[in-house]
Amino acid sequence: MSDSCIIVGASHAGVSLALQLRREGWTAPIKLIGEESELPYHRPPLSKEHLAGKKDLDAMRLRPAKVYADNDIELLLSTRVSSIDTQTREVKLSSGESLGYQKLALCTGASVREFIPARGLENVFYIRTAADIARLVPHVRKGRRAIVIGGGYIGLEAAAVLAEQEVSVTVLEMSERILQRVTNPAMSEYMQHLHESQGVEIHTGVEVESIREEGHEKIIGCAGGTEFRADFLIIGIGVEVDASLAVSAGIESGPGIQVNEYCRTSDEHIYAAGDCTVHPSLIYQRQIRLESVQNANDQARAAAANICGKEQVYDAVPWFWSDQYSIKLQMVGLSTGYDQVVMRGSADGGVEASFALFYLKEGVLIAADCVARPKEFMISKKLIKDRAQIAAERLENEEIEPINFETA
Ligand SMILES: Cc1cc2nc3c(=O)[nH]c(=O)nc-3n(C[C@H](O)[C@H](O)[C@H](O)COP(=O)(O)OP(=O)(O)OC[C@H]3O[C@@H](n4cnc5c(N)ncnc54)[C@H](O)[C@@H]3O)c2cc1C
Repeated sequence: MSDSCIIVGASHAGVSLALQLRREGWTAPIKLIGEESELPYHRPPLSKEHLAGKKDLDAMRLRPAKVYADNDIELLLSTRVSSIDTQTREVKLSSGESLGYQKLALCTGASVREFIPARGLENVFYIRTAADIARLVPHVRKGRRAIVIGGGYIGLEAAAVLAEQEVSVTVLEMSERILQRVTNPAMSEYMQHLHESQGVEIHTGVEVESIREEGHEKIIGCAGGTEFRADFLIIGIGVEVDASLAVSAGIESGPGIQVNEYCRTSDEHIYAAGDCTVHPSLIYQRQIRLESVQNANDQARAAAANICGKEQVYDAVPWFWSDQYSIKLQMVGLSTGYDQVVMRGSADGGVEASFALFYLKEGVLIAADCVARPKEFMISKKLIKDRAQIAAERLENEEIEPINFETA
């Protein structure tokens, strides 16, 4: 048996895990295997500065190539792991080669959900990889018409960039409001007004039934007979975990690869971290799957510690950000299940607005969504972790500094 640690997936989770292994004292070989051809890069700028042409890929590398060499991490790019043999402790690569492991970490992330009516059509774009953006960028030109299907974070970030480039943008969202899955109606309303003030058309409660092409034009047919026309489409309808690698190796999986609080899968030699996992949250007392850089990095570091024999429980407060136009939206915690929402500040003023929404459950702060409110965001991380009970009146009272929310 090899003494290596093999990490499958060379992105946020995989890279953090590899580097943390060395910090935790792993001295045996580390092989970091990734399917993409690029030196690992930050994914969030793809739908932000990179799409806008303000940041090139070389400015987005997770680490310079030298760091992998300095830490004796063997990086195998353009390489797919096609199967795992848990008996012999080997992974098989798409090239046919087999590599043995002592410990294995699955950091395989998630893939975009395909929008079936658009299958096989030209000029339909998804946003997950640097290669996706390279294909999309030539179409982002003043005066062109784009339809974004899906009013989640990635669709809206792309819409903002396109609007700034004077592309005529229409967002079609199936739910009653944009960002329905992740925030409350007040934030959805604020974001919708923000986009509309920048010239983006947003239609909610719209079900796309068909897409046909007339020459280079796409005609999107919706339930009820409404039609929209565009030169190109961006699809942002969420992601899915492809757990087939784990499933075929007999590793317990559901909507993601199941791990315990130590980031260990049902196989004692195999760990997992990042978007691909479902893990128990002690804070929220349920199983959760997250899609965020914070989760990928923090969970990977905990997994590395545990691979090296520690017993480190992963139970971080989730947080996330989104940049649209000049605003920074920062979210902390999970708002599902709240029974009270308090607004501090005002959502008026479009790009000038500054406010925070606090979500409470039985008087305990469980989440906060902040626009231009970094202090509220920072303190909420701590208060959520502490399961702090805070009177709603204190949260909305602008005379009380966030640092004093808890002080009576
Ligand atoms: C456009 C965009 C914008 C985003 N913006 C934000 C943001 O503002 N804030 C935020 O917190 N998060 C954001 N996210 C989410 C964040 O990027 C993800 O949560 C993060 O990338 C998850 O990291 P990961 O390493 O778990 O998975 P991924 O980044 O998905 O990486 C998994 C890697 O594994 C590889 N892989 C999969 N299977 C195999 C295999 N069998 N063999 C070899 N390699 C394999 C894949 O090719 C991929 O490179 C954004 C994501 C996107 C796409």
